[in-house]
Amino acid sequence: MYTTSTNSEIPKVTVERTAEIRESLAGIRARVAEAVGASSPTERPKLVAVSKYKPSADILVCYEYGQKDFGENYVQELVDKAKELPLEIRWHFIGTLQSNKAKLLASIPNLHTVQTISSAKMANALHKALPSGRTPLNVLLQVNTSGEDAKSGLPPLTSLSPSSNRSELSDLQQLAKHIVISCPNLHLQGLMTIGALDLSISANETERNADFERLKETRDALEVWLQTELAPGRGSEAIDTNEGSDRSKCWRWGEESGGKLLLSMGMSSDFDAALKAGSDIVRVGTGIFGSRKTKDEIKQPKAVS
Ligand SMILES: *Cc1c(COP(=O)(O)O)cnc(C)c1O
Repeated sequence: MYTTSTNSEIPKVTVERTAEIRESLAGIRARVAEAVGASSPTERPKLVAVSKYKPSADILVCYEYGQKDFGENYVQELVDKAKELPLEIRWHFIGTLQSNKAKLLASIPNLHTVQTISSAKMANALHKALPSGRTPLNVLLQVNTSGEDAKSGLPPLTSLSPSSNRSELSDLQQLAKHIVISCPNLHLQGLMTIGALDLSISANETERNADFERLKETRDALEVWLQTELAPGRGSEAIDTNEGSDRSKCWRWGEESGGKLLLSMGMSSDFDAALKAGSDIVRVGTGIFGSRKTKDEIKQPKAVS
């Protein structure tokens, strides 16, 4: 079912399309490197190629050009693609997740990260659906930094809200704590935001993008809070450390080297600015694969081409 090598049933794209995708990908990589002044040999910042609505053949072109991380928005589409594409791909789910789809999503062996967790219900569903021997699945909590109704995600924290003089925990704090303590099949890796389109358009080189700043502030506050709240000896006995297992060597959240939470922010229109603002993961679709059909066009394929 899941292949480790390239499936020959995936039709090849034309030579022209191959050249086009490679050129775009190389261009995006160069911009990523430039934005971070990268000479660093690390994998960060991570470029996730967002391939929703794009055929597996396009993905394969990127893969064969060294791209390993891909993002998808729809569970069934991701399941279908994962079945026919190489197992070495690291899939990132970046769409709205319904908890009744958690099981299907969790069945993908090379699912690497779910970037859009925003409720305990969703976290529980994923945690339960994952095979317990599996490497914990990375999850990012989605934050609605722009406060738009149409966007999912939890409200951001400000530097004022998370401190101890507030008796009530914010939704984000509660969810983070819940995942660390009660969902050992999940690994809380960081935060994700989509952000308002107009901010990414209006914010130029010199101006700061308020969404990115808000996500950073939220991350900083949450990190500090988690470190005090879940420090060893403060109720952390509740956490299964599986002595001797790989897990016990890891931080229970964030990066292994220090409990640092990662930021996933920046898309085709604003990833340079996001990287300058400190993003660790950028999600680029159009910039690599070209424009997509809209959801309506997908539903009525005959009407478009
Ligand atoms: C579609 C999508 C992207 C990629 O958007 P582009 O503008 O095509 O780069 C990134 N993040 C999320 C959450 C998306 O849904």
